Amino acid sequence: TKYVYDFAEGSKELKDLLGGKGGNLAEMANLGLPVPPGFTVTTDACRAYLRTGDEPFGLADEIDLHLERLERQAGRRLGDTADPLLVSVRSGAKFSMPGMMETILNVGLTDTTVIGLAAQTGGDERFAWDSYRRLIQMFGKTVCDVPGEQFDRALDAVKATKGTADDLGLDAGDLQALVTTYKEIFTAHTGRSFPQDPRDQLDQSIRAVFSSWNAERAVLYRRQEHIPADLGTAVNIVAMVFGNLGPDSGTGVAFTRDPATGAPGVYGDYLANAQGEDVVAGIRNTMPLQDLARLDRRSYDELLAIMAKLETHYRDLCDIEFTIERGKLWMLQTRVGKRTAAAAFVIATQLIDDGVIDADEALTRVTGAQLAQLMFPAFDLAGRPERIATGIAASPGAAVGAVVFDARQAAEVAASGTAVILVRRETNPDDLPGMIAAQGILTSRGGKTSHAAVVARGMGKTCVCGADGIDVDVDRRQFTIDGGHVVREGDIVSIDGTTGSVFLGAVPVQPSPVVRYFEGALSPGADPLVAAVDRLLSHADKVRRLAVRANADTFDDAARARRFGAQGIGLCRTEHMFLGERRPLVERLILARTGAERDAALADLLPLQRADFVHLFQAMNGLPVTIRLIDPPLHEFLPTLPELSVKVALAESRGEPDGHDRALLDAVQRMHEENPMLGLRGVRLGLVVPGLFAMQIRAVAEATLACREQGVTVRPEIMVPLVGAVQELEAVREEALQLLRALGVDARIGTMIEVPRAALTAGEIARAADFFSFGTNDLTQMGWGFSRDDVEGAFFTRYLELGIFGVSPFESIDRDGVGRLVRIAVDEGRRTRPDLHIGVCGEHGGDPESIHFFHDAGLDYVSCSPFRVPVARLEAGRSAV
Ligand code: PEP
Ligand code: MG
Repeated sequence: TKYVYDFAEGSKELKDLLGGKGGNLAEMANLGLPVPPGFTVTTDACRAYLRTGDEPFGLADEIDLHLERLERQAGRRLGDTADPLLVSVRSGAKFSMPGMMETILNVGLTDTTVIGLAAQTGGDERFAWDSYRRLIQMFGKTVCDVPGEQFDRALDAVKATKGTADDLGLDAGDLQALVTTYKEIFTAHTGRSFPQDPRDQLDQSIRAVFSSWNAERAVLYRRQEHIPADLGTAVNIVAMVFGNLGPDSGTGVAFTRDPATGAPGVYGDYLANAQGEDVVAGIRNTMPLQDLARLDRRSYDELLAIMAKLETHYRDLCDIEFTIERGKLWMLQTRVGKRTAAAAFVIATQLIDDGVIDADEALTRVTGAQLAQLMFPAFDLAGRPERIATGIAASPGAAVGAVVFDARQAAEVAASGTAVILVRRETNPDDLPGMIAAQGILTSRGGKTSHAAVVARGMGKTCVCGADGIDVDVDRRQFTIDGGHVVREGDIVSIDGTTGSVFLGAVPVQPSPVVRYFEGALSPGADPLVAAVDRLLSHADKVRRLAVRANADTFDDAARARRFGAQGIGLCRTEHMFLGERRPLVERLILARTGAERDAALADLLPLQRADFVHLFQAMNGLPVTIRLIDPPLHEFLPTLPELSVKVALAESRGEPDGHDRALLDAVQRMHEENPMLGLRGVRLGLVVPGLFAMQIRAVAEATLACREQGVTVRPEIMVPLVGAVQELEAVREEALQLLRALGVDARIGTMIEVPRAALTAGEIARAADFFSFGTNDLTQMGWGFSRDDVEGAFFTRYLELGIFGVSPFESIDRDGVGRLVRIAVDEGRRTRPDLHIGVCGEHGGDPESIHFFHDAGLDYVSCSPFRVPVARLEAGRSAV
């Protein structure tokens, strides 16, 4: 194996081996740009080192060889007492992990070469001793774990004796003395003296950089960013150049376009007479890059020419780091630059206009996650509001309102026209009306997949959850913040679901221009960002194969989904239509003792249900609407057992028994299930409760006829939930077809595939289905055996830590397991019925990663919440190019 690459041997295509920094340094060197000579030790070597705790065989010899070449190119030798070569030893992984791993500068300085360095820099002894003390400090900290404070304290002590607050107040003598102190600290901590062999310094530094791959912060960062843990880092050894050799030296960073807005032009900062760390540390104020033109016209012009060359070569925005050493420009780093979501869209379209990339490639330069970010309103933090807590950014957006502590109150206060934030320790289905009424939801417990988080995301509602710095006391109607400050009912808070921040008081909110455009309130020409979004989405629509539908149960949601580009409704959850004031009707249905009582209850529900469907059909005039027959266990519509038991017991102890409540309690007890999600729900209900599905199907048919009369084109699809066997579907289908035929209505009849057995017997089920829609929420629940409602808070954090999965399988489809079930069902279903129409309506239908999977698996459409529709359009387009 070859473990070391000269810059001349590498390229940006070799990032796996050379890391981002090494690959790009090689790329620049090969473009003929002024890069200091150097070489890269590969990630292979790092992985071998981490595996065995030792350098792989042959690495030392290779380093010798490349070091010799480096010395020849630099015209200096490591350890030369008269004219020493110094090198930097820098980490550089395949994916950028800013500041997470180690760097050691000035390697090569010793008690003797420090004199040579002074001579080399025209007798600048102060500079030489300062460089040496920096090396001891950095090497001590990163290679030998010497506590950094010990060095800091020694430096402060010297400054105090000198009566100066600034490093610049120290002279060569002070710094030389400091070197002696630093070496003593080093020896006291390590039990040996500071290494005086430069090659030994280099080897130890390389090993320290290898090891820093597993530093705690690096591990955490990778987990957060979903960067694989086994890649390892490359190590770059580069001849040092100095930006701190006087006024004709300096260092800077620059972007080839504005990374915040995408506007063309040169953006950057320059700091004269300084080294890279000084810019990052913000020790002195930088000046705009343009001012370099006055200081050093030649370097400035050269820099601009290089930036233009880099943009042309990388065909994208680049960021760079450079140093000027006594009037000579050196390029220290470049990469395709990070940018804001807005800039990503603007730059991608500019590059089309510049003829640099085509529209297909432009789609690869933006992501659905970026578009989602652009759709949320944002807080304007210019006024520096007081942050009182931080939780998990569960559902993005910016919400302001008065604090309330329960659902009933949320609904009441909201109804009076006051915006509210519902604050709970955690939420449960009873909180739903409050969540709907609130601007945002704040909980002190639970993670990204807690009830609050999942429901809020589904509604497009702002949510911060798991803010464990607050202590919610519902009984006293207040919560306490870490510091003891108390926030009472009615106090105003602002919650940021994009960052997880919670602020006291009302922070001003800026609406998203992108959403205003989707709503038809802003024309694409009005704003360059909106124009870019419009253009890239149109292209995505042109190239995508997947259609995009919405999950919607109301006219408003359906109408919004349509404005956002939905091509139909993929899931109307009809149970949502049985809540609120209709609950008593459902109670009557459940309590019915005779067929006649039941029929009467159903007859009362029919016109309500019919009207619901009419509204949906009107909103979706001309587009398909998938109505799913009722799914959840019926007792979800009844009060809970403890609640009702207490009520009945109290009434009876007062001697005022209530017959209705008593009957209800009996029903609740009778219907109690240990595992309701695995019990009497979905198609099982339809086969057990006579007339229930028939009422819904009749409502669909009658609504279709009513709309037809109004000139509304209806394309109804009836969907059966929770089917596991073709016989279940056949029974429902038979009854449905009879009813539809009798009423003269044509509707497609299909099924959800959400029980593993359905996926595994899809070939048979397809005989009775016009379409499949994957219910990946239940398919994940039953495929993994993970309760949707409990596991995320219970143990997912641990599972993520253990790397059992990198992201919750409820958030992004588990390709290997649940995905396999999907593929089997698609293949076998289509084998039976080549024209089988197939979609997905679980949460995953709006998840970018999952959308790419559904494209690959050959689905026809994805269905997601209205707010995700534009994201799904974009990602469907991206998966097709
Ligand atoms: C599903 O299970 O993925 C689904 C869409 O149905 P629900 O979430 O209503 O159970
Ligand atoms: Mg389901």
